[in-house]
Amino acid sequence: MNLPKQKEAKNLVTFIENDESFQATEDTFKAWKKMKKNALNDGIELVLVSAFRSIKRQQELINEKRNKNISENEIFSVLARPGYSEHHTGRALDLHTPGSALLEEDFENTEAFMWLKNNGNKYGFYMSYPRNNDFNIIYEPWHWCFSRN
Ligand SMILES: [Zn+2]
Repeated sequence: MNLPKQKEAKNLVTFIENDESFQATEDTFKAWKKMKKNALNDGIELVLVSAFRSIKRQQELINEKRNKNISENEIFSVLARPGYSEHHTGRALDLHTPGSALLEEDFENTEAFMWLKNNGNKYGFYMSYPRNNDFNIIYEPWHWCFSRN
C-alpha cells in the first residue's frame, strides 16, 4: 500500500519549546499542550522533536541522504516522498523522552511510550506507523498524528 498524498497545511501556529521553533495546526498544538501537561502530572516527560515539515523541507532531507549515498530503498523506508509525509499536515508529531535514543525503535521500551499507548487517543493522537504496517514504513513508535481521520 502506498502512503496517501498529504496536503501542506496553510494555517499554522508557531511556538517555541526547549529553544526550538515548531509549527503545527492550532488544534494539534492545543491537544499537544494538554497531553504534555497531563503526562507530566503522571511523571512522564514528553519532548517534541518535530512537528510541521514543508514539502520543500522533505525534499531537502531526501537530498541530504542521497548525497550520503544512502540507497533509495533505505531512504524511503524512513522518509515519505515529498507530498506524502504526515508532517506536511501540521498534525504529526515526533516525540522523545529523556533517557532513550532519539527516534529509535527503543522508544517503545520507555514509560513514555507506555503512557502514550494508554492515553494518546484520549487527546486525539494515534500512532501512524505500527510494527509491520502496510505502508513499508519502518515501525515508528515516536510518530503520533492528531485526529488522523
Ligand atoms: Zn514523524
